[in-house]
Amino acid sequence: PRESVETLVNRLSETVRDYPQPGVVFRDLTPVFADGEALHAVVHALIDPFQGQFDAVAGVEARGFLLSAAAAYASGTGVVTVRKKGKLPRKTISEDYTLEYGTATLEIHADDLLPGSRVLILDDVLATGGTLGAACRLFERAGVQVAGFGVVLELSALRGRSALAGHRIRSLVRE
Ligand code: AMP
Repeated sequence: PRESVETLVNRLSETVRDYPQPGVVFRDLTPVFADGEALHAVVHALIDPFQGQFDAVAGVEARGFLLSAAAAYASGTGVVTVRKKGKLPRKTISEDYTLEYGTATLEIHADDLLPGSRVLILDDVLATGGTLGAACRLFERAGVQVAGFGVVLELSALRGRSALAGHRIRSLVRE
């Protein structure tokens, strides 16, 4: 029988201790994206529960870009980027969020998506939920409805799900 998407992710992903700083257990999904069968399975598992419920896919810089472009292509929608501060050339909307040490800022173009349209937001890992929470606020401020979130891996102990309360979250592996 074919491997489940969860089995593929568990088999192919890597764990790197003390990266990018001491104490962090970094979960590296790049080998999952590098595998054709796994990339296909992951993308379809992320979009299937939201079929017919989104008009565009958004990805968070940078690993979310890979998932969002593939997901948009597979579902016949467009793709938009949620970027780190200072990368977008035109009028932006900005949201600050807290990291373990300090803060960071995410931006979208103010006119990326039409008000009233529905966006599915993707990233590789859900940790504290700070990143996806900021992405959510960006689109809501632009009048765009957040159809839900999709992540490959959810680090449950960090309680990101509660930071995104009120929205549907599809995570393929929880640990
Ligand atoms: P957070 O805002 O805390 O939910 O963190 C999510 C963002 O940081 C995602 O863009 C992840 O790529 C990255 N991230 C956070 N923690 C980890 C981790 N332990 N392993 C890999 N990526 C992580």
